[in-house]
Amino acid sequence: MLQQTQVATVLPYYNKWLRRFPDFSSLALAPESRVLHGWQGLGYYARARKLHALAKIVFRKHGGVLPDKIDNLRALPGVGRYTANAVATFAFDRSVPLVEANIARVMARLFDVRDPIDATRGREKIWRYAADLLPARGAASHNSALMDLGALVCTARAPKCGICPVNKFCRVQNPEALPIKKPQQPPKELTEAHAFTFHRNRLLLEQSSGRWRGLWILPRARSISSSRLVHMSIFPFTNHRITLKIFVNPPPRLRKKTQRWFSTAQLASIPLPSPHRRAIEQLLARRLQKLCSTFPSA
Ligand code: SF4
Repeated sequence: MLQQTQVATVLPYYNKWLRRFPDFSSLALAPESRVLHGWQGLGYYARARKLHALAKIVFRKHGGVLPDKIDNLRALPGVGRYTANAVATFAFDRSVPLVEANIARVMARLFDVRDPIDATRGREKIWRYAADLLPARGAASHNSALMDLGALVCTARAPKCGICPVNKFCRVQNPEALPIKKPQQPPKELTEAHAFTFHRNRLLLEQSSGRWRGLWILPRARSISSSRLVHMSIFPFTNHRITLKIFVNPPPRLRKKTQRWFSTAQLASIPLPSPHRRAIEQLLARRLQKLCSTFPSA
């Protein structure tokens, strides 16, 4: 959950998730729609799918207990070097290095690394330095202390070098110039047109097979030339900036296999990506308002 997402945002989702899936077996046995529904609002749904796949493997191959060996952890879906080492060091106190954003910044400055830390050469240097500093015992405390050092003292802006406990080993001259990162590509603009089809108090939705695989979205708009635009919003997705346009469409003569009608009460229990959920809530609230205004006030 914490990949690409801040702790404060994650906490309520994390607690809710653990109430819903308290162990690997409950997650492994859950249908995908329930897993995606539990993840709803966090975005990057590939993480939820991989966690689901991971739970199934842990349940079937490891008796429902997370393996403690790095190789076994790395073999699980969605677990790369960082996650495997983080679990190994914090859960099992293994003496393995850890590099996340805070530690990468500390290492880049301590050892004056001038290579971009998000390119292979720079990244490997940082991991090597982190491994060199690792104590034989107490790696969990050591890694935790390095993270805190980066978060509280060796901050991205205005690092507090005057009170830094490793000041005398630090090689950097101008800390704020490090770490170096590859130049960012500007986001690609994309416009997507979807249809709002509300008929006999039910909304037509489509199960996505693309970006939001398994989640329910407003169907793609068929023809927009004569349709009325009722909603427009912008949201980021990886390196894209997507403009979501929603048009009122009449009910289709033939409904696709992937489409289904939902009552408004059902919407709360199905997984919907946040941009579509927000748009649907706004449009339904607007409909209700319009309906109310047609009744004479008492
Ligand atoms: S001395 Fe300054 S730049 Fe070096 S590690 Fe400490 S806070 Fe960071």
